Amino acid sequence: MRIRLDRTLCDGFGTCARHAPGYFSLDDWGYASLEGDGVVDAADHAGVTRALLDCPAHAIIRMPDAES
Ligand code: SF4
Repeated sequence: MRIRLDRTLCDGFGTCARHAPGYFSLDDWGYASLEGDGVVDAADHAGVTRALLDCPAHAIIRMPDAES
């Protein structure tokens, strides 16, 4: 699973960092940055998927899996 974050859509709700703190960090105003390259470990799918579904701004986007 691979995600990206569209920071132009982020509205600073901070939900993502609560669900998946290893993948999202928040700046002083609560706006999120993606940590790492967007590749999600299998063990973290649940938390990241919750972050994605709960983001009120739909700023977290699931990318098609990389072709192998
Ligand atoms: S949940 Fe969405 S709107 Fe809120 S900080 Fe994260 S990316 Fe931004």
